[in-house]
Amino acid sequence: MPILRLAIPTPLRSLFDYLPPAELTPAAIAALQPGCRLLVNFGRRPLQAYLIEVAAGSELPASALKEAKAVLDTEALPSPTLLQLCLWAADYYQHPLGEVLELAFPPGLRDGKPHQPPGAAAWTLSQRGKGLPEGALGRSPRQAEALRLLQQGEAVAATVFKQLGISAGILRQLEQKGLAERCVLPPAPQSPSAGAGLDLNPDQAAAVSAILAGYGSFASHLLEGVTGSGKTEVYLQLIAHCLQQGQQAMVLIPEIGLTPQTLDRFRNRFGQGIVVLHSGLNATERYTAWEAARTGAASIVIGTRSAIFTSLQRPGLIIVDEEHDSSFKQQDGFRYSARDLAVKRAQLETCTVVLGSATPALETLHNALQGRYGHQQLSLRAGSGELPAIAAIDVRRQELQGGMSAALRDAVQSTLDAGHQVLLFLNRRGYAPTLQCHDCGWIAQCRACDARMTVHRRQRRLRCHHCGAGEGLPNRCPACHGQRLLTNGLGTEQTEDVLRLQFSAWPVHRVDSDSMQGRGAMQALVDEVGSGQPCILLGTQMLTKGHHFPGVNLVAVIDADALLFSADFRGEERMAQLLTQVAGRAGRVGDAGRVLLQTHYPDHPVMLAMLQDSYAEQARRMLEQRRQSGMPPWGRLLLLRTDCADASAGQTFLGTVRRNVQRQLPSGCQLIGPLPSPLQRRAGKFRSQLLLTAADVRRAQQAARLLVAAAAQLPARNGLNWSIDVDPLDLG
Ligand code: ADP
Ligand code: ZN
Ligand code: ZN
Repeated sequence: MPILRLAIPTPLRSLFDYLPPAELTPAAIAALQPGCRLLVNFGRRPLQAYLIEVAAGSELPASALKEAKAVLDTEALPSPTLLQLCLWAADYYQHPLGEVLELAFPPGLRDGKPHQPPGAAAWTLSQRGKGLPEGALGRSPRQAEALRLLQQGEAVAATVFKQLGISAGILRQLEQKGLAERCVLPPAPQSPSAGAGLDLNPDQAAAVSAILAGYGSFASHLLEGVTGSGKTEVYLQLIAHCLQQGQQAMVLIPEIGLTPQTLDRFRNRFGQGIVVLHSGLNATERYTAWEAARTGAASIVIGTRSAIFTSLQRPGLIIVDEEHDSSFKQQDGFRYSARDLAVKRAQLETCTVVLGSATPALETLHNALQGRYGHQQLSLRAGSGELPAIAAIDVRRQELQGGMSAALRDAVQSTLDAGHQVLLFLNRRGYAPTLQCHDCGWIAQCRACDARMTVHRRQRRLRCHHCGAGEGLPNRCPACHGQRLLTNGLGTEQTEDVLRLQFSAWPVHRVDSDSMQGRGAMQALVDEVGSGQPCILLGTQMLTKGHHFPGVNLVAVIDADALLFSADFRGEERMAQLLTQVAGRAGRVGDAGRVLLQTHYPDHPVMLAMLQDSYAEQARRMLEQRRQSGMPPWGRLLLLRTDCADASAGQTFLGTVRRNVQRQLPSGCQLIGPLPSPLQRRAGKFRSQLLLTAADVRRAQQAARLLVAAAAQLPARNGLNWSIDVDPLDLG
């Protein structure tokens, strides 16, 4: 008796055996493809499940098996290579397969609904209908005529039958005989019409031809190009080649990096046939875009992290722009890296993948320097721009207003006077990170986290940036009823107030996730700033992601020290990336512009490196330090985390896991912990972690399996949640 082996989206890491629905014929069961969706009762809940295989039998007695309720797809909707990617990812990240496979479908196809893509109604032959000889059904001339039509093509629109006088009733009769089935017409492929590209400069031309030299087989490339060096133009010309081959291109971009400007550049070059996938879409928009990618109707798919799980019909090229960006790594649940999966996917699809950045992640740079990836470099700005000079402002003993020294205020003034724009970077939103009582010392803390509440003056609220909790801004100290409440530290709202007072003749635009709510906000800002009128832009890292502000001539980092003392081993890499990206917003057109860093530590070695060396030089030095410490990308890391309302339960759980795996760990692996995580309590739960360092990926994978197996065996009491993070970005 055939058994359906299914992956079901539950935290349980096993497959589940079900009996096929009784009405299914043996032929229909045999025809089911891996990746088909089914509906099953799991416990008491109806859940969507995914077929992994039709097996000859089960280890369980037939009496213990339940029948699947329904088969939702007769053919798998995701491509076979995408299914392979999901299997690989579930294994590599040690995540339940059912939850991974869910990502291969749009939200509208995750809860048991049939696949009814938007499109024109049509009919096609069923598997059985395809087996009929020509001229069959001779006794019913109308049915025979309908059959003849269906035998001529893939799918025939319902309207065609109508025009020929074949009624819907005739087709329903064929359907009842199991010969024909309903479908929808795939939208006609949009023929991409590539507009003319720019004349490439020699670096760009070399990059394009090196990448195209291996086109058609699997190859990964790092495109390392300084800010403004014309990486996007390289992407566009590679995509043009891909489309000429009749293939599809996928472009992954950081979460908030999809600027209207970027999209416009693609639309202007390629016209129609582009679909975009990001979190701002509603369910129908997602469905439509997904279907166009899957059927090949769209030739270019642009999307954020989860778009890597979009099925493509004929992929030729995958691009990951700003590949160093941390938003490519999912930070909860299924903790995958879309960048790393892009490389794996290109391997499975036998196609080209290009990872582009001005500030490549050390992992990627390492792969390029070791010769595993091609390495294309663009060291000059394209067009006329030059890279700006970076200088420090020593703020020790200086009087600061809104965080700005007199020297910075003068620089802002003279830039505005000269008719240019100013970009000020302060990576902290709100008014101030601390509210304190001057009488008794009370500090506003989040009730659910080990964190202070941030003062948001505009909304008159205190907000926790870790769990989102909020409350009204108090007038009196809740501890002593004193009225002298002080704000300590600096956020964008506060600097904005000072700027508006001091530079009242010029517009000040604050750009952070508070001020940029709504779809059109960023576009409106970009349009206004694009007019070139002198103004001040003040913002968080939202400002640094891919935006192009040609009129900006001065970039200043108000608090460069905020990045300097990170406990994370990636702190220095992050600082160098962020500051280089911020600095890269200056002087994109015309003269080089200036970059100023305000610091109390102008002589700190990291600060000196920022001032003197390019990112490329710093990155190579950091790689050498990582080699000596055995940290990634030389070694590998894994984190096993617990979150629990009971502070000690997590430590106990992880301690037991540690004892149970210790003996079997491969050589070259080390466990550190269990330790409370740096921000121990968040949203009311205590987090603990066990860190594993491994000498290489093979041993890290062995250890991951051991850790997960050991954790899965333990009872999780008190609502304890555990999770594994393979290649974690944050050790917190
Ligand atoms: P990046 O993506 O590396 O930051 P962009 O692709 O945005 O750089 O290019 C920066 C600017 O240089 C853009 O205004 C672009 O139009 C221009 N540019 C790029 N390539 C060329 C070229 N070959 N000739 C002239 N201008 C170019
Ligand atoms: Zn008080
Ligand atoms: Zn909180």
